[in-house]
Amino acid sequence: MGGSPRLLKMKRLWNDVEACALCEHLLPNVTKKVFGDGNVSADIVLVGEGPGEEEDATGHPFVGDAGELLTDIIAAAGLTRPEIFICNAMKCRCCSKKGEKVKNRTPKDREIATCQPFLLRQLQLIKPKVIVGLGGTAIATLKRVKLKEVRSTQLAGLTERGKGAWYLWTYHPSYPIYRGRDVALIDQMVGHLKKAKEMAHG
Ligand code: SF4
Repeated sequence: MGGSPRLLKMKRLWNDVEACALCEHLLPNVTKKVFGDGNVSADIVLVGEGPGEEEDATGHPFVGDAGELLTDIIAAAGLTRPEIFICNAMKCRCCSKKGEKVKNRTPKDREIATCQPFLLRQLQLIKPKVIVGLGGTAIATLKRVKLKEVRSTQLAGLTERGKGAWYLWTYHPSYPIYRGRDVALIDQMVGHLKKAKEMAHG
């Protein structure tokens, strides 16, 4: 892409994210904001929840255990991370602190709504054919509904036509890990990403 107009616009958006202090309460626990990685002209964009500890430390999405599993799932579906774009609904880590202990937490609806314009601007720039929502937070953000209105277990595998792109819902990769690395769930996720590939490439 070199210095293509799209890449330059994406870099400008990245700068806007870096400069953002709308969620002042999150910033003391943020090491690095996580903008997203991959091809800015991708046909498929994967959207997750938000940075965890490893993502916050590195500035890249999906680099911990869940990230490794997601990379395997992407490969099993016949895709590669560099050909798609991966980002999150939230660009800053959400966590709660008890003494010295810092624990990831689910973002609140108002935090999701505050960060949502950045995701929407990313999607407007990339113009993917298929947007895959990984788990409840991503699905709620993309559907623009409250978190409690979303049951990713009921939505997984379903598609919806959006403005200019298809949406496909699946689990967050931390879900099969939480369920003891549930092979059936992992297989389902591979199937969902294969479906995304077919929808994007025909
Ligand atoms: S979470 Fe999003 S809106 Fe909130 S401070 Fe971070 S970049 Fe800004």
